[in-house]
Amino acid sequence: MADFCSPDAVSAAALRIRRTVYNFAATGGLLPAEVLEQACAGLGNWRDSGLAVTALPFTGRVFRELLSETQVLLRELLGIGSDHEVLFLQGGASAQFSLLPMNLLQGRTVTSYVDSGYWSRRAMDEASRYCGVQVVASSASTGYDRVPELNPGELHSGSAYCHITANETASGVAYDQFPDSGAVPLVADMTACFLTRPVDVSRFGLIYASAQKSLAAAGLTVVIVRKDLLGSAMPETPRAFDYAVQACSGSLYNTPPLLSIYVARLMLSWLTVQGGLAEMRRRARRRSARLYGVIDGSGGVYRSAVRPADRSRVTVCFTLADKQSTRRFLDDAEREGLRHLAGHPSADGVRVSLYNPVGDEAVETLAQFMESFAERNG
Ligand SMILES: *Cc1c(COP(=O)(O)O)cnc(C)c1O
Repeated sequence: MADFCSPDAVSAAALRIRRTVYNFAATGGLLPAEVLEQACAGLGNWRDSGLAVTALPFTGRVFRELLSETQVLLRELLGIGSDHEVLFLQGGASAQFSLLPMNLLQGRTVTSYVDSGYWSRRAMDEASRYCGVQVVASSASTGYDRVPELNPGELHSGSAYCHITANETASGVAYDQFPDSGAVPLVADMTACFLTRPVDVSRFGLIYASAQKSLAAAGLTVVIVRKDLLGSAMPETPRAFDYAVQACSGSLYNTPPLLSIYVARLMLSWLTVQGGLAEMRRRARRRSARLYGVIDGSGGVYRSAVRPADRSRVTVCFTLADKQSTRRFLDDAEREGLRHLAGHPSADGVRVSLYNPVGDEAVETLAQFMESFAERNG
């Protein structure tokens, strides 16, 4: 244990991983080498408490400090004001698909959803078990090649909220500018693009994100909710998932995901030191632009189905001529150490996930591989 977690062993392992394998998995869970090293070093004995982070009593002072630092760093990075509560929950974005109507309906019977593809459909399918779902805008008719235009005038007047999916991780469609939903609170699934760009939180009724894509390890779900939306969850809502209950108890109604919060704390420091969200946006734009440049300059070897204005900066999707070419591309990439590039099962093709921890070197290696593959197969 001590050997495995010594900083030397960890950085050597991290370097070895970095030199030979680049991970572009959409499921996330990547950590920058520095964060991985710190995480290992502090895990066994957090701040001389004599306890591993996982063994800290969650009600005790030491863990409360860690949680409070995590909260403060997140509030600073995103510029979250006092109108919003920050909750650290479990269950992932998928649990939020149910918890949104359970917490936010507050006696109403209708919610509005923008249908931009796979994840928005998952969210609305789940919501439809609890309430009426108005599909207020959809890009289904153009094959989900864009973010649908939302006209606030078309929102159902009794709608409890209007839901958008900020980044469609299956197809690579994303909002550049977030829409206006008028008086109806705007709710966004930001799982895939959380902390990859600055966001004006004050415009949102609620933002939720599973942490494993760009922030931490799986197990933590961040919910940022406007305080005036709290307080009348459906009676059958599990207490651990009642936003108001968790807000009142500082996300300590029950045992929180200590390990994932610990990793988030380290990642938030890393993001801050790196230059914050404006810098993350610059990196995401630069990295995605490099890949879209290769796609658009490949003479048709690679094709992006997404309208250029709505192309995601963190999920770059493209297709090749047919299944065999795609298979050859993925096999050749695998041999070069370029891993987990297969597209989402709902969309044949290739998908490159560029979450915060993915480095320039990984992107450049992939871009050069794509160029040489296109030359050989064009
Ligand atoms: C990955 C992802 C999810 C699923 O998150 P879970 O933590 O697995 O529930 C939901 N929405 C979007 C946009 C995603 O990218």
